[in-house]
Amino acid sequence: MTTDNKVCHLTPQSTMGKVILVGAGPGDPDLLTVKALRMLQQADVVVYDRLVSNEIIELIPEKTDLIFVGKRAGNHCVPQDGINQILVEEALKGQIVVRLKGGDPFIFGRGGEELEALLPHDIPFEVVPGITAAAGCAAYAGIPLTHRDHAQSVQFVTGHLKSEKEQIDWSSLARTNNTLVFYMGLNQSGEIRRRLEAHGMSPLTPAAIVERGTSHNQRVLPCSLETLEIIAAHAESPALIIIGSVTQLAHKLSWFEPKQSLLSCYSEMTEVAEDKREII
Ligand code: SAH
Repeated sequence: MTTDNKVCHLTPQSTMGKVILVGAGPGDPDLLTVKALRMLQQADVVVYDRLVSNEIIELIPEKTDLIFVGKRAGNHCVPQDGINQILVEEALKGQIVVRLKGGDPFIFGRGGEELEALLPHDIPFEVVPGITAAAGCAAYAGIPLTHRDHAQSVQFVTGHLKSEKEQIDWSSLARTNNTLVFYMGLNQSGEIRRRLEAHGMSPLTPAAIVERGTSHNQRVLPCSLETLEIIAAHAESPALIIIGSVTQLAHKLSWFEPKQSLLSCYSEMTEVAEDKREII
């Protein structure tokens, strides 16, 4: 998008707006890209959802129209068709529309579906990538997703396991020297544990849950595959589940200091896991 698009009123195409799909990153406003910030400053309207942090919304000029289409698990505020329709209608009015999404718009963000909805109307679009939650949370938790001594590959997996479209190759996930990052997996942690164990992953495999990653309320809850479900019951959304021996490195590589330190989370979660085992 250039300012030229906004000032050139005379050509027939001038009534057509544009949609810019922008990744806002995982929360910390400093993780917004320079291009994302520039797009937010030039937009006529910003359509955003729940995962975009308030600090980022505060960077949007006051004159810009804001449309919240936030979604919560299983309780869509505006259904996907409705969001698509808003984007189309605003662009057809000639607006420069920023569709702002948490993390990266092409990673579990339905960004592709939203762009596909623009095609029949010939609405032009651009995509600005963002730091996806896996990259942001891992960095701020001190967990390198790959490491020559631990993991030669990393997989990002949806935790939405019950959908009819699910076609996850669990045996490929359960292999060694591989890091798994589950998005939207908190409510499915029991299922994740059972399926990985059934495909041969050791119950002692180290894991961690990163809650509200990159924010000052970030918590890193260390666990193992065996205790994942128990620890997940104490975690709040948004949270990522990271499974693999790289998670152990957080003890020595953790650098970010949110309100609750890794050490206090560790002792708290160890107690939770031990109490639960005694009860069982
Ligand atoms: N497009 C986004 C992901 C959207 S799916 C991205 O690239 O990051 C929503 C899921 O992302 C949440 O359920 C959670 O699993 C994860 N997530 C997003 N932001 C997060 C954060 N700050 N901390 C932990 N997990 C986060």
